[in-house]
Amino acid sequence: MSQSEPTPSMEGFVSGMDGDALRVVRRLLSAGHEAYLVGGCVRDLYLGRPPKDFDVATSATPEAIRKLFRNSRIIGRRFKLVHVFFGHKIIETSTFRTTPPDTGNEDLLITHDNEWGTIEDDARRRDFTINGLFYDVENERIVDFVDGISDLESRIIRTIGEPATRFREDPVRMIRAIKFAARLGFHFEPATWQALLEVAPDITKCSKARVLEEIYKLLRSGSSLECFALLLESGLLQATMPHYVALFGRDPEDGGEAILQAIRQPDEASPEALTLARFLAALDDYTLQTRQIVANGVLQAVLFAPVLGDALTTASRDGLDRHIDALMAPVSMALGIARRDRELARQILMAHRRMIEPFNRRRRASIAQRQYFHDALIFLGLAVSASGDRGRELERWRRLADGSPEPESGRAPSAPEKAGKRNRRKRNHRRVKGAPASAARPPAAASDR
Ligand code: ATP
Ligand code: MG
Repeated sequence: MSQSEPTPSMEGFVSGMDGDALRVVRRLLSAGHEAYLVGGCVRDLYLGRPPKDFDVATSATPEAIRKLFRNSRIIGRRFKLVHVFFGHKIIETSTFRTTPPDTGNEDLLITHDNEWGTIEDDARRRDFTINGLFYDVENERIVDFVDGISDLESRIIRTIGEPATRFREDPVRMIRAIKFAARLGFHFEPATWQALLEVAPDITKCSKARVLEEIYKLLRSGSSLECFALLLESGLLQATMPHYVALFGRDPEDGGEAILQAIRQPDEASPEALTLARFLAALDDYTLQTRQIVANGVLQAVLFAPVLGDALTTASRDGLDRHIDALMAPVSMALGIARRDRELARQILMAHRRMIEPFNRRRRASIAQRQYFHDALIFLGLAVSASGDRGRELERWRRLADGSPEPESGRAPSAPEKAGKRNRRKRNHRRVKGAPASAARPPAAASDR
């Protein structure tokens, strides 16, 4: 084990810490348990990035943690842990655990994971060295059993332990590896990448729900374009979404090549694949600028708009409806996409054409009152950003959503404009903690990547 020396960068480390997470650690310590900040928050603070969330690891059992915090709840069966609530914020607090003993079974897939262990066991059961670090609040030191600090310094993604085994135990780790490589701009350690290529087909052994959730996380990571490139290079996208990838070519392999080309060599790419790459780039800009959590339905609309092509703006209403259904049905079935997410995507795509037609007061009134208006507006912002076109319509809809008057009339907001305001309130409700309200807008047109 190595205990890091306090380095100059660790001053920012302490100031970036979350007060509630520290409260959880200190209460556990004063009750006589071991307790540390752990995982992604330690990694991100070390890199000088704001952590998405703060997790605590402790020697206390879930029941003991629950007793110490009235504002807490035990969750999970496969992986039992405690959520400690502070308003909307959750501090995930988990008991040190060890990798379950080898059952002698050929299949390494872990189906339950509730064997308690020591802090060192807990470090070793984690996925990547950069995620296996603990922060000791009292002594202001990082506790490192897995050489995570050196990999953070060298910007490397490396599994803890033998990579093929760790990926077989839980194939979702492969998608996580890609998320971290893309988001942090890290490289794969060669054996980890080799194992990922070898084990990629095992991803189909995981529950659909976990895989879909990880795919949504990739799309919301602010690096969805690079994530897609790595998913395609590893074969993971072809394995998880074969019906979708095949929409870009004759089969998943072909479609995968086409999308990869659009990302890596855009000059030679097919129009649909290029549109997808531009949409993903627009989504990343939007995520990084606004820190908004984009709804699943918007993410689905982003994925399917490029394959709808001109039909999105030219097909008859019924024709477009049927076309959307035919494209989405097999993908939804294979991935287990929730009906409400699919329905939102359909509504957004159907509304899009009406939103880019010449501005019409009656149409404007009817769309602005719809529940999906806020999400359709985000999608319009992404479409404008991806195509560099229709910026004027976007501005008008945004003005409506903000309840600000048309420049020429200077009149008071009308009923639909008030509806826009209501939608805006909803939108702010979904805003990620810490992001300024003014950042809630989609980005201005045309980032030409
Ligand atoms: P993010 O910034 O996306 O939240 P994170 O590293 O914090 O990244 P979480 O999903 O919040 O990821 O998980 C917290 C920690 O739990 C990880 O840092 C890692 O140590 C551990 N972990 C999460 N998922 C797995 C897994 N599938 N296998 C092993 N360890 C995992
Ligand atoms: Mg986290």
